[in-house]
Amino acid sequence: MPKELQIQVSPEIAANELLLKEHISKLVQTPLAEIQHVSVLKRSIDARQKSIKINVKATVYFQGDVIAEDKIELPEYKNVSNAQEVIVVGAGPAGLFAALQLIELGVKPIVIERGKDVRGRRRDLKAINRDHIVNEDSNYCFGEGGAGTYSDGKLYTRSKKRGDVDRILKLLVAFGATPEILVEAHPHIGTNKLPQIIQDIRDKIIEFGGKVLFETRVTDIIVKSNEVQGIITQNGDVIEAKKIILATGHSARDIFELLDKKKILIEAKPFALGVRAEHPQSLIDSIQYSCDFRGEYLPPAPYSIVKQVNGRGMYSFCMCPGGVIAPCATSPGEVVTNGWSPSKRDQVTANSGIVVELKLEDFKPFAKFGALAGMEFQKAIEQKAWHLAGKTQKVPAQRMIDFSQNKVSTDIPKTSYVPGTTSVELGQVFPGFLTQIMRQGFQEFGKSMKGYFTNEAILHAPESRTSSPVRIPRDNFTLEHLQIKGLYPCGEGAGYAGGIISAAIDGEKCAIKCVESL
Ligand code: FAD
Repeated sequence: MPKELQIQVSPEIAANELLLKEHISKLVQTPLAEIQHVSVLKRSIDARQKSIKINVKATVYFQGDVIAEDKIELPEYKNVSNAQEVIVVGAGPAGLFAALQLIELGVKPIVIERGKDVRGRRRDLKAINRDHIVNEDSNYCFGEGGAGTYSDGKLYTRSKKRGDVDRILKLLVAFGATPEILVEAHPHIGTNKLPQIIQDIRDKIIEFGGKVLFETRVTDIIVKSNEVQGIITQNGDVIEAKKIILATGHSARDIFELLDKKKILIEAKPFALGVRAEHPQSLIDSIQYSCDFRGEYLPPAPYSIVKQVNGRGMYSFCMCPGGVIAPCATSPGEVVTNGWSPSKRDQVTANSGIVVELKLEDFKPFAKFGALAGMEFQKAIEQKAWHLAGKTQKVPAQRMIDFSQNKVSTDIPKTSYVPGTTSVELGQVFPGFLTQIMRQGFQEFGKSMKGYFTNEAILHAPESRTSSPVRIPRDNFTLEHLQIKGLYPCGEGAGYAGGIISAAIDGEKCAIKCVESL
């Protein structure tokens, strides 16, 4: 009979199928030849001890056992060409998974995306990196696949609903992601692999009768008697529908402004803001794995850290081992950072957002903007950083200890941020209270992670698009906007998700509620 085991092994054993079989054969006191197959169910790293161990949960099949195959297949989609139509605005994870779910339920999605298709986007990423040109519709945040397409593709979430998470992970595998994402405790896909998966999702939507419109920006939502009637695009085209899933992401400032202007209820929402710190990956490895070299069996080490400083949380956000810092502005005249990694995470640097939680009261200087106060606070910092670094896509940068000591760095080495950096005292970028917290916070981080507080670390400013500065309120049960019938605020931009997986889950949820109401 198959036997389920929870064991701890060395990284070398965990990485080698035969060594793992041999180890298990000794453990269960069964000759190697009697072990037919070992199926690894879960794998995680335990770096708490001096010698690092890998936790492995596995099912061992002996000769004669029938191996249970977990076949991962796409749902049976129906052709929806002639079915009722629902508009989905935004082709990020929320919009794409909403569209797939609509098809599964027999409804036709019309996906409207301001940016280019996933391949066409590449040219615009090159332009922002090399020529400092920001295309307002096609960049690291906008375009097919949304903000997470050219990212590290981390697929973990704080969502406790394991069933929802597993469903999205399995769909991703069915669309071509490695099945390893079902096994790893902290799965990720990588920038080089995600675009093909996104393209395959789009092809499936079209194959089964859905529509996908690129380079089509929604500029107005038609509302009559508090009920949606359709949308208007930048070319003046009208597309009618009684149901709209609005999944435009945290950077769609024009959508927040539109809703505010039309007096459709939105609310300011606290978010977090700070810098993106870059260390040599080898330094992070040595801290996290307590060793000089990580060796060939361990992956580049991630880190996750949080401290309370002056009553506020300061924490690492979207950490990218072996990654690169990306220019994520969505308009000219501002700079924004975030990070990505290739699937192998094989770059020599480790970067992470290091951010401080904000409170609604911090937005007081922007109170005249009402629900957009947080967005204006965010914009002001991004624009200040742009001015200070020389009005290109270069970002203000400072060495970590220099920042804590309020000292301009005399030199900034080349970092992974391709557009380049300008040495600036980062206290000039942020309001005083944020600077104070970060100055102290980095020293606190250094106490927990010996070696982290170092002038080898370069801080890039700002990391400002951590989550939406606005919430678009919806009914907890129907998921419809509180005032507007037929409008489904969805995903990260509406304030109901943070990350690829939770946005995809929210997309599915909105699609289900939308179809129930048809
Ligand atoms: P988005 O992905 O933002 O998608 C919104 C879409 O709407 C965009 O494609 C946009 O072009 C479109 N849109 C906006 N306005 C309009 C309009 N007016 N008309 C038509 N279309 C419009 N998360 C993770 O979980 N793991 C990671 O490793 C990770 N790394 C990241 C790295 C980077 C560089 C960035 C920028 C983000 C990263 N994130 C990561 C965050 C993640 O991408 C988001 O949480 C997620 O994409 C949110 O999904 P969404 O569908 O709600 O919104």
